[in-house]
Amino acid sequence: AKKRRKLGVALVGLGYYSTDLLAPALQLTQHCELKAIVTGSPEKIPIWQTKYGIQDKNVYNYQNMHTMADNDAIDVVYIVLPPALHAKYSIIAANAGKHVWCEKPMEISAKKCQSIIDACAKNNVKLSIGYRMHHEPNTQKLMHWAKTTPYGKINHVYAEAGYFESRISHWKQIKELGGGAMYDMGVYPLNAIRYTKAMEPIAVRAKHQTTRPEIYHEVDETTLFDFKFEDGSTASGKTSFGENINNLEADCNSGNYYLRPFQSYTGVSGASSDGTVLNAFQGNQQAKQMDTDALAILQNKEVLVPGIEGLKDIAIVEQIYKSANNNGEWIT
Ligand code: NDP
Repeated sequence: AKKRRKLGVALVGLGYYSTDLLAPALQLTQHCELKAIVTGSPEKIPIWQTKYGIQDKNVYNYQNMHTMADNDAIDVVYIVLPPALHAKYSIIAANAGKHVWCEKPMEISAKKCQSIIDACAKNNVKLSIGYRMHHEPNTQKLMHWAKTTPYGKINHVYAEAGYFESRISHWKQIKELGGGAMYDMGVYPLNAIRYTKAMEPIAVRAKHQTTRPEIYHEVDETTLFDFKFEDGSTASGKTSFGENINNLEADCNSGNYYLRPFQSYTGVSGASSDGTVLNAFQGNQQAKQMDTDALAILQNKEVLVPGIEGLKDIAIVEQIYKSANNNGEWIT
């Protein structure tokens, strides 16, 4: 059979991220093509078909998406649903023989994350997690510095990410769907601490706060967390649906550096204490991410962000919630 040059991508869940970021970014990719949609909202179908030329045979809903097993136009299924639905639909996609791209947070428990990894392994399909910062050049520089430590031992990492969430009855406020600031925005500072230090925490403690208890009683509005590492270094993080924050700093023996903002779609930039400037990447983050993930499939190489990376964060998120529910005690 003739080898297709571009991979056919199906977007699952046509909400904000699919509509505003991923679909436009797919138009900028070299190795991907938006071929299919999976949606539970019939009114969205004609809009997407017209805008992106999606054929009738490539339109699915959540009940029939398993039948894409016999649709050769689809190579990759990108899960862009509320977090607690990621495992269910990633597994359906893997069982249909499709490669899986799964948005962050990977799921709401390490166990559910593992179920996605297992389904992809069993079906011999690749799994990538949508941690777009891993594809961003300045972030990659910090990951490199974690290993080479050009400013000496990294003694403390601080990371915070949040925004003012004005919606009050979205899945982000519903526990059952994977709501809560720690799952949604918290994985950014958590993941950033892990890649900036290139080490796993040996102890975790956390606490929740809210200024809007009438809204944030079921899930956390703001979460603060602290880590200890085996080399004696520490980290602290913050995430919030109540304020706009976006900062990553590393304090080292002989200097320091930062990215500010560190996780926005554009403008991720920073500097270090010796005057090194980290200028913002000018390309489209999501297009770069999807092309890199597509090449891993086309060339049968290791993906940049495998399932285990998402699982490691969620295992720590579980410890964070456990600590916060136990008066902030250290969990080891
Ligand atoms: P939205 O709420 O805007 O969209 C989610 C979509 O999921 C809905 O529009 C709907 O699509 C579908 N859906 C299916 N079942 C449900 C349900 N029970 N409740 C609500 N929606 C449902 O969310 P986002 O697009 O903001 O987020 C989706 C995922 O993408 C999350 O995991 C989020 O963390 C991640 N994300 C990642 C970003 C990144 O930078 N990597 C940025 C933003 C989000 P339909 O009507 O088509 O069925």
